[in-house]
Amino acid sequence: MSLTTVDFANIQVETPTLEQVKAEYQAINTALDTAKTRAEKEKALQKWDDLRRRLESWSSLTSLHFSQDTRNEDYKEKKDYSDELQPKLTALAVEMKRKLLSSADKVELETILGKHVFSLWSADVTTFEPAIEDDLVRESKLVDRYVELIASAEIEFAGETVNLSGIRKYTQDSDRSTRDRAEKAHWNFFSQNQELLDEIYDELVKLRHQMAQKLGYDNYIGLGYKKMQRIDYTEADVARYRDEVVKEVVPLAEKIIAQKAEKLNLDRVYFWDESVFDLQGNPTPKGEHDWMLVQAQQMFDAMHPELGDFFRMMVKGNLLDLKTRPGKAGGGFCTSFPTHDVPYIFANFNGTKGDVEVFTHEMGHAFQNWQSRNLSIIDYLWPTYESCEIHSMSLEFLTWSQMDKFFTIDADRFRQIHLAESILFLPYGCAVDHFQHLVYANPEATPKQRHQMWQEMEARYLPWRNYGDLAYPAKGGLWQEKQHIYCYPFYYIDYTLALCCAMQFWVKAESDYKQTLSEYIALCQRGGKAPFQELVRSANLVSPFESGCLAKVVKSAREFLKL
Ligand SMILES: [Zn+2]
Repeated sequence: MSLTTVDFANIQVETPTLEQVKAEYQAINTALDTAKTRAEKEKALQKWDDLRRRLESWSSLTSLHFSQDTRNEDYKEKKDYSDELQPKLTALAVEMKRKLLSSADKVELETILGKHVFSLWSADVTTFEPAIEDDLVRESKLVDRYVELIASAEIEFAGETVNLSGIRKYTQDSDRSTRDRAEKAHWNFFSQNQELLDEIYDELVKLRHQMAQKLGYDNYIGLGYKKMQRIDYTEADVARYRDEVVKEVVPLAEKIIAQKAEKLNLDRVYFWDESVFDLQGNPTPKGEHDWMLVQAQQMFDAMHPELGDFFRMMVKGNLLDLKTRPGKAGGGFCTSFPTHDVPYIFANFNGTKGDVEVFTHEMGHAFQNWQSRNLSIIDYLWPTYESCEIHSMSLEFLTWSQMDKFFTIDADRFRQIHLAESILFLPYGCAVDHFQHLVYANPEATPKQRHQMWQEMEARYLPWRNYGDLAYPAKGGLWQEKQHIYCYPFYYIDYTLALCCAMQFWVKAESDYKQTLSEYIALCQRGGKAPFQELVRSANLVSPFESGCLAKVVKSAREFLKL
């Protein structure tokens, strides 16, 4: 494998104008219409792919710059321009997809690009009509209002002013009363902003419902699934899967909570006790940023030369931004520049175990994107989200054997907690998903009724939950801190489906690490060439929708946790 010498500083992409992009589309249309030979058709499709790669790189870079420094006026201006141009670019892309889907040459085109991309486009073309262009811009603005509101939190705690991610280190403090007070301070922000939080969501729900109706859907659920490009499973499959989580996972989750009570010497586990697992408190990495990068290089070198070389390339190319700093957006993500064939990862190290988890997670996404870089068309560079999350969550588990490098004597505790948290996450993820189905099936519900719907979800999926005197979440407000519910509807069950696959990789790795890692790399190389369940089966894993799949991984987890 020859390694690229791309440096982030040299990634520059021209800002497109609508006129120029329209002219390029026109040229591609003409080239397709007049193409007689297969080679001519391939050449025209290649031109479209090049155009989309340039637009994608520009869009990635614009968003990344804004996230790296939200106070930079120039970055903010460029981001606004991108937000406004985006629906118009979607309109042009959808028009081209419609043309190719109804082309007389479709069969021949399928032999060039593969059949799968045509299935993806069949979903895409049902999610857009020019009639919803203004609604899409309004939706982005409402989403931005939520993000800005959440980012504006300034909480006084322990003599410092922290934001909603900053308070997290206190909500998982080893001292119980600190956790309790930190949760109160955290929810106080939501209580002060309840009206606005309810109002933004109410508008979003009604707006999304309206768009769905304009496109001919009964409600937003159908549109939401198509926007996620779900082509090989349905709402009914997801509902059945959630039922299995209740049956198979909730009992083990309850045992984890009971074990926690024992280890923490508590009569009753309150909400603020859920983030710690023993009296020692959560393990933390034993060094800072630069030290972590050295450990990471040794870790990937020890795992596989493909991973080691890849990470070396990321470091050398300055394709990592992991340190937290004022003005930088929160969270962690992976993006990519398809014009230069490289990914980029973004995080906010804060000294918690989450640094290692976020880092290995985003590296999983980045490694997959890199492994898929030579696939024939941009649509295959990433698979659909539930498959993307397999690459990331599986790497979190496949790096387990190397965790001594970061946590030394606490590595065993790290592994135990990582698995326990994974089990606890499954029912929570289902609650977030099921809640959104209720919300979009009943778009006329009042904010108060939505809070009641969330309480029903907690009773079903998180029956151990006890908020004590935390009034806001006790009244059904917890969901309002979940960004996905506002910003990325129906993108949440994906994590739970992927986790179910990642845990299968974990089980296999325990008995044959080398073989499992090569199956993982092969899956990364397949990128987005197939839909979810086909990718899962190609990696010799069982689809989470198959009955018995969850029961099997839960059994392995129970044994490992000795519960
Ligand atoms: Zn992810």
